[in-house]
Amino acid sequence: MAAPKVAVVGAGVVGLSTALCIVETCPSCSVTVLSDQFSPSTTSDVAAGMLIPHTYPGTPIHVQKQWFKETFTYLFAISNSAEASEAGIHLVSGWQVFKNTPKEELPFWSDVVLGFRPMSEAELQKFPQHRFGQAFTTLKCDCPPYLLWLEKRLKATGVQMYTRKVADLWELHSEYNIVVNCAGIGAHQLVGDEQLFPVRGQVLKVHAPWVKNFIRDGDGLTYIYPGIHRVTLGGTREKESWSLSPDPGTTKDIFDRCCSLEPSLQGAQDIKVKVGLRPSRWSVRLQREVLSQGGFKLPVVHNYGHGAGGFSVHRGTAKEAARLVGECIAALQGSSSRAKL
Ligand code: FAD
Repeated sequence: MAAPKVAVVGAGVVGLSTALCIVETCPSCSVTVLSDQFSPSTTSDVAAGMLIPHTYPGTPIHVQKQWFKETFTYLFAISNSAEASEAGIHLVSGWQVFKNTPKEELPFWSDVVLGFRPMSEAELQKFPQHRFGQAFTTLKCDCPPYLLWLEKRLKATGVQMYTRKVADLWELHSEYNIVVNCAGIGAHQLVGDEQLFPVRGQVLKVHAPWVKNFIRDGDGLTYIYPGIHRVTLGGTREKESWSLSPDPGTTKDIFDRCCSLEPSLQGAQDIKVKVGLRPSRWSVRLQREVLSQGGFKLPVVHNYGHGAGGFSVHRGTAKEAARLVGECIAALQGSSSRAKL
């Protein structure tokens, strides 16, 4: 069989990193990224990009931990290289604080991040409304730079990228041997996945360069994540809301909540409001499927549904998707050599 032609649908963090892993594991593949939107217009551009995992109830914890660990290791190496500032990857230290001591004092990812420990009494004095906290160092992606860095790496390896809205995966069967579906929330319409739903998130990106530590309320709703140029203030989690319009009342509420955690934010300037739809699902859909029509077959690998944690696990799920693409290629090669006999 000639070099397999692989189409990756989607150019968010999942699509771009999956395309990169496919090129790395199958250098003879011809990979094309097709997407109706590229950076800076994807959900991935809106994200805070912090590596603090979200839990997927339908995926075994050891698998989630593996995805997180692979992602952390990959980005840690970038943060420790000359590429760090261009890729927008940096280490950040801070606190996760709780009004009441959580049931699970040691989250599953505590030994992946760096220096995880309970906060001291002295540190907790900064947060008079909170009784318990965890201090650690993790990684943060500044999302648009990271997406552009991934695009640059893909172009350097010869990957083609085209703006194209795919109405049905089957429309690609005559041009490609394998299709990888990384359409994020777009998969709801693209493959009619009723288990996939939006969780709307509104955030503020502000200029407050004196804020150096992250602060996250353990309820996951209020957070302050300093990036290289801007600080992300969040947030909201509105299940089943498809609205991409910023809500002014929510902007004020987010700002007030963040100021109550970090009063110096009263002096923040140049407030920009962003909204994104988290592609949420009981578990990430990471599986092979074979579509068939009129005697023709099209192998598909799905990799979508990363909800609130796409940045935290993207490299791990991309590696698994690339492995599944390898299985599809082996199956295609098996059937083409049988056909020749
Ligand atoms: P997307 O970025 O939405 O990419 C999907 C791509 O598919 C797009 O390019 C789109 O144009 C394309 N597409 C869709 N349908 C079609 C079609 N029919 N034809 C062609 N192309 C199509 N995660 C973290 O780990 N840490 C965080 O701190 C964090 N913060 C967040 C804050 C907010 C406010 C939000 C909204 C999310 C946050 N997330 C965070 C979650 C993270 O953003 C997502 O999990 C991640 O971006 C999903 O990436 P994706 O590539 O699957 O989706």
